[in-house]
Amino acid sequence: LVSREKKPTDTVVNVGDVSVGNGQSQFVMGPCSVESQAQVDTVAKSVKEQGVNILRGGAFKPRTSPYDFQGLGEEGLKILRNSGDRYGLKVVSEITNPKDIEVGSQYLDIIQIGARNMQNFDLLKEAGKVNKPILLKRGLAATINEFMNAAEYIVSQGNSDLILCERGIRTYETATRNTLDITAVPVLKQETHLPVMVDVTHSTGRRDLLLPAAKAALAVGADGVMAEVHPDPAVALSDSQQQMDIPTFEYFMEQLKQPNVTAHNI
Ligand code: PEP
Ligand code: MN
Repeated sequence: LVSREKKPTDTVVNVGDVSVGNGQSQFVMGPCSVESQAQVDTVAKSVKEQGVNILRGGAFKPRTSPYDFQGLGEEGLKILRNSGDRYGLKVVSEITNPKDIEVGSQYLDIIQIGARNMQNFDLLKEAGKVNKPILLKRGLAATINEFMNAAEYIVSQGNSDLILCERGIRTYETATRNTLDITAVPVLKQETHLPVMVDVTHSTGRRDLLLPAAKAALAVGADGVMAEVHPDPAVALSDSQQQMDIPTFEYFMEQLKQPNVTAHNI
C-alpha cells in the first residue's frame, strides 16, 4: 500500500490546516524533552515567530540508560498541548506503548513512533487504527525495505496519514552520533508516495552539523526537517550536546528560508 506503484501520486498529510508533502517545506522544532510549561512556552514562542508550524517535545522518552530522565509522561503531553494552543502550533510527541496511543491521540496532532520502536509491531498496529497522522522514524539499524514494511503495518490497518522520517543509522563511523543516510530521502520518495522528513538532530548529534544537514535534506527533496531547540541546552535533561539555543535556532531558520535552499520546490 505504501509503494509508488500502487499509488503514483504524492500523499499529502493534512494536519488540520498544515500540509506535509505538498511541495512546501515543513519544520518540526522543539525541545528533546518536555521539562516544564515555561520551557516549552519559551521555545514555542520562538518557533511561531520563525514561521514554523509544528512543535515537538518528548514526554515518553526512550533513553539508553534507565537512570536517565524518562520524561514527564501524560503531564508532558498536556504541557505540549497547552503551548501548542497558546501559540497556534500543531504538536507532535513520541508514544512508546501501544496502550498510550489512545491518550496520545487526545493531546497530539501527530503521533511519533521512534527509531527504537520502528519494529514494535503491536505499536504500529495500534497507530494504524487511530484517526491521527503518524510520524514514523527509521530504526537505528533498519534497511529501507524494513522501514517500508514498518510503514506498511500502519497503513494496512487503515491509517494512511503517515510521514516517514530518516534519522540516521548506525555505522562504523564515530564522527557523528549516527550516519545520516541522505540518499534514503530520494529512495523513499521514489519507492513510496509518502512524505519524507529528515531529523538532523539525532542523525548528526552535533550542533555544528545541523544546518548543513538540513540544507542537504531539502536539496535532495525532503518534505521537512526536524531539529531540537531548548532555551538553555547546557541544562537540558536530555540531548544537551546537540539542541540549539534560541539565537542559534533563529539563525538556522533564517538560513533555511533563503530561496536557493529549497530550490527543489520551485
Ligand atoms: C526523538 O525524536 O525524540 C527521538 C528519541 O528520536 P529517535 O527515535 O529518532 O532516536
Ligand atoms: Mn533528542
